[in-house]
Amino acid sequence: MKSLLLLPGPVPVAQPVLEAMARPMINHRGPEFAEIIARIERGLRPVFGTKGDVVLLGSSGTGAMEAAFVNLFSPGDVVLSCPIGVFGKRFASIAQSYGCIVETLDTPAGAALDAHALRARLKTDTAKRIAGVLLTHNETSTGVQNDMAAIADAVREHGAVTLVDSISGLGASDFRMDEWGYDVVVTASQKAFAAPPGIAMFAASDRGWERMERSSVPRFYFDARKAREFAKTGQTPWTPPISILYALDVALARYHADGMEAVVERHARYARAVRAALEALGFVIFSRPDAHSVTVVAAYPPEGVEAAKFLKRLRERYGVVLSGGQGELSGKIIRFGTMGDVTEGDIIGAIGSIELTLADLDAPSSPGAGTKAAIEALSHRTAVTA
Ligand SMILES: *Cc1c(COP(=O)(O)O)cnc(C)c1O
Repeated sequence: MKSLLLLPGPVPVAQPVLEAMARPMINHRGPEFAEIIARIERGLRPVFGTKGDVVLLGSSGTGAMEAAFVNLFSPGDVVLSCPIGVFGKRFASIAQSYGCIVETLDTPAGAALDAHALRARLKTDTAKRIAGVLLTHNETSTGVQNDMAAIADAVREHGAVTLVDSISGLGASDFRMDEWGYDVVVTASQKAFAAPPGIAMFAASDRGWERMERSSVPRFYFDARKAREFAKTGQTPWTPPISILYALDVALARYHADGMEAVVERHARYARAVRAALEALGFVIFSRPDAHSVTVVAAYPPEGVEAAKFLKRLRERYGVVLSGGQGELSGKIIRFGTMGDVTEGDIIGAIGSIELTLADLDAPSSPGAGTKAAIEALSHRTAVTA
């Protein structure tokens, strides 16, 4: 059966991007490869909002999160973790694995990080024990997005190094690394860039790079200094996933042909449409009204509908693949990803299939209510500003 992947990663990848992976191998120390790397870096810089170096790592996104640690912090360093879901907690676990002392600023489930609360917490750290602040741009497990401009303001005065997991944020929403003053930002190929998984991207501020140069912590594969040094000559320190880089190169060309603003507008509009449709069908959106993600919608199913049963029927009968919850939300919510090579028709089709599934499960619903809400939201374009 034809299947429609609407996960928060991996995401549907356009045919020309897939086809790029069938190209023959080339020398990763040769001129053709250097051109590809240079083009990818040029394509990534405006998306990160940086004029600085962006290096590519042969790993999934978590590899870049780990790289941020081994390069910046030493055992015994105090870091402030600001989790708003499972991925924020993963960041803290990595910190713990490397012997950092992790303090936590808690946020209620479904809410975004409160910049005022963060500012207040950092103000109490008069001794400046906190060396780093761990942040998630977009929390994929809860469908919540943080206001990264406000958060940057809140941290600036304290001066701690900032690490941002923007794996499911970058590309889909405005991000201004240099302007906001973030130190390390990481992302990955298989989310809003609409490429296959396998490449992580890592950008750092001047201050971040200086800190990495000075750090004496042992590191090898994920040594960002090496990655940066090799990048200057159009290479990666180790053999990279060449085929995925071919794909990412084509995906980025398509991304910029659409235009960054149009892509950002599209993600916001798709997410609005999915939320409106699900609400019209009796789902309850998990994220608070001021905290919605533009890349993933998390929602409780209508009363009397079991999330797992619903997802199974939707997948097996209609070929629409959505995610379930993670961690404490496992079995409780559904997650609808809107990233990747997804059209308006895909969104409407998926919502229609959700309506059919609810009918199959004898859930009370008014057929057409969801698709109507989705169509209304999809046809309403608004300018997106930061
Ligand atoms: C997908 C995701 C990750 C994990 O990335 P992998 O590529 O699976 O390692 C981490 N953080 C966020 C916010 C994500 O969406």
